[in-house]
Amino acid sequence: MKYPALITNTAKLAENINIIQKICAENNISFCAVTKSFCAAPGMTGVYYKAGVRDFADTRLPNLRKINYPGVTKWLLRLPMLSEAEEVVETADISLNSETATVEALSGHAVKLGRKHKIILMVDVGDLREGVLPGDAVNIAGEMLKLPGIELHGIGVNYNCFGGVIPTLESLNIITGVVKEITGKYGVNINVISGGNSGSMHLLTSRTMPEEITNLRLGEVVFFGRETSYQQLIPHMHEDIFRLDAQIIELKKKPSMPVGEIGLNAFGEEVVFCDRGDMLRAIVACGRQDVDIGKIKPLEPGVEILGQSSDHMILNVTDADKPYKVGGVISFSIAYGALLSLSTSEYVYKVYE
Ligand SMILES: *Cc1c(COP(=O)(O)O)cnc(C)c1O
Repeated sequence: MKYPALITNTAKLAENINIIQKICAENNISFCAVTKSFCAAPGMTGVYYKAGVRDFADTRLPNLRKINYPGVTKWLLRLPMLSEAEEVVETADISLNSETATVEALSGHAVKLGRKHKIILMVDVGDLREGVLPGDAVNIAGEMLKLPGIELHGIGVNYNCFGGVIPTLESLNIITGVVKEITGKYGVNINVISGGNSGSMHLLTSRTMPEEITNLRLGEVVFFGRETSYQQLIPHMHEDIFRLDAQIIELKKKPSMPVGEIGLNAFGEEVVFCDRGDMLRAIVACGRQDVDIGKIKPLEPGVEILGQSSDHMILNVTDADKPYKVGGVISFSIAYGALLSLSTSEYVYKVYE
């Protein structure tokens, strides 16, 4: 075994995927699996594919390129950069868009490749991240409908990201209104109305999702079992799919106060210490380059995280139940932000059990 290790329980992951699939099916919602927080690692996407998932979404093209199962549809979630327009058409079947200039570039490349590229026009109903304003959506959709390489496949909305805005019936009705205007004015079909991310799950569990909404793009709820608007656990879902294991490289009794004149730490931060006498301190080999200590919690009783530098994490294990030793391992539970950084760090071993 090598450390630090991000360990995934794939049986629990499969169970969570099944529960989400069932809830979505009961509400006539298609479920698009969002893979960005685990960098579309094949050890993870394989579990989704085996569970029957065929729609995969990621914010980054290198991640989408890793998903190569037969019969899958790939969505690019982040608005395309103009500099990647050609690769977007080559790599993704569908992309989320809000800028006419970008969609024109996508159209140009699609025509060259003899394809139609599908787009979801994003509408911003208040979270203030991506999307055209509702009042502009109908005209902009009209411009995009004229482009020969483009199919206006759907309308989408995003919540809970920048503004932390929680999706409600009222704001989803803005979207369904926009869709009615577009279909009425231009006589086109809109296949997909994508009603958000894990923050929209509470509308499914409370059975209040407007029936016009056909799709959700879901990441976090699958990993941690909670809808993200109110942090409610969804019945029977697992919260403990992932674990971080880090190995002890030093274990010594030391004072709790640094010795000498105190300046800034390695990150230019002022650190305040209080004298708690001598403590048994463990250093594990896992640092800021891998994970932020604000996003993890020790799983073993009596272990306290004191701090972190680029490559070291310092822990107080004075009150720990376990008799630790050098070479031993300390385990942590992780939150969403930790999954993202641990998955991205090439120094973290990924283990699927
Ligand atoms: C990340 C992302 C999602 C998934 O969000 P979760 O909260 O993980 O479900 C959905 N849509 C877009 C546009 C995203 O960037």
